[in-house]
Amino acid sequence: MNNWESRFAGRMGRIKSSAIREILKVTQQPGIISFAGGLPAPDLFPVEQMRRAADTVLSQHGALALQYSTTEGHPPLREWVAAGLPNTTPDQVLITSGSQQALDLVGKLFIGPGDAVVVESPTYLGALQAFTPYEAAYLAVPMDQGGMVVEALEETLKQHQPKFIYALPSFQNPTGRHMDLSRRKKLVEVARRYAVPILEDDAYHHLAFSGQILPTLYELDQELGGGNVIYQSTFSKTLSPGLRVAWVVGPREVVSRLVQLKQGVDLHTPTFNQMLMYELAQTVLPELVVKIRNTYRERRDLMLAALEQHLAKEAHWNKPEGGMFLWLEIPEGLDSAELLKKAVEQKVAFVPGQPFHPDGSGANTLRLSFSNASPEDIRVGIERLGRALRSLLTV
Ligand code: PMP
Repeated sequence: MNNWESRFAGRMGRIKSSAIREILKVTQQPGIISFAGGLPAPDLFPVEQMRRAADTVLSQHGALALQYSTTEGHPPLREWVAAGLPNTTPDQVLITSGSQQALDLVGKLFIGPGDAVVVESPTYLGALQAFTPYEAAYLAVPMDQGGMVVEALEETLKQHQPKFIYALPSFQNPTGRHMDLSRRKKLVEVARRYAVPILEDDAYHHLAFSGQILPTLYELDQELGGGNVIYQSTFSKTLSPGLRVAWVVGPREVVSRLVQLKQGVDLHTPTFNQMLMYELAQTVLPELVVKIRNTYRERRDLMLAALEQHLAKEAHWNKPEGGMFLWLEIPEGLDSAELLKKAVEQKVAFVPGQPFHPDGSGANTLRLSFSNASPEDIRVGIERLGRALRSLLTV
């Protein structure tokens, strides 16, 4: 009866469904080994501990846990987050429904039609999905194996005045790349010099395989006086992605505005879930992150060995020191979306690299996730990927 399309807001013209969601549908076919989704290993979820925590929370604070609560978040959880960051008080912390919500709220607060945002190329696809509805204009800064190239960033900042720089210095999604300390310092210094704030997405903070966690950009900015970094992280890669509890931290005048925006979105993050996370953050989290690191390191090693065995002649890849992903380059001129078709015929899946590039480059790249696959699936799946690539090369 209605022509719905004609009624949608103009910004909807720019919104497409995520390439990853579409691919995940394919990967649910029976028999497919998937390295596509960025899913944590379900066998490491603290199910028993969560059950006990749920019991504790419900018996001690049942009515509170089931009630509406403040937009800012569960006070003890805000204190816990603030205590882990230098010179930070709980009123600088907003608990969000996943860090995906933090991306949306930050986008809503800063980005108007045509406003420039600096992103790494490639960058986290979910951030592009969060910022695009606000009609962001992306300034893509190239990366090398050590993360965003700061000299290229500086060239960009000489010519443009972006609203902020979206940075993933630690075990980046999608590449797994990690920025060393000296580059982190340079990035923070350049951003301050040009007075452009940084939004630091630190979803993979705990997943350093060596256990050595480098200072965050937020921390380094504090050493220079602070106030130029908005920081976000999440429990999704450690305790549970399904409970949707994360946080964003920044200057009070920013956080108070984010709170106003969140009120209009979902009033607050589920009270019960925040209480559960608070319980587990204090008890289970430190031990759990060691287990996760060890498991993911093993799976990374298996994937590297399988790649060496089955794709050494045809592809290049990195050796990530943390996180859940590695990044593969196939010969220039090949398209990983075409490879995916061959791969699905062979019953293996991954995510093609192009959607992570705001400028449409990266056709010969792809993301492999090692966190969620069993050792056997890694061996068999990478062998199948090698077969798929060779069949594409012989077309
Ligand atoms: N940022 C990055 C870099 C991510 O990889 C993810 C999850 N894929 C998120 C944010 C969103 O995570 P969540 O909303 O579950 O906290």
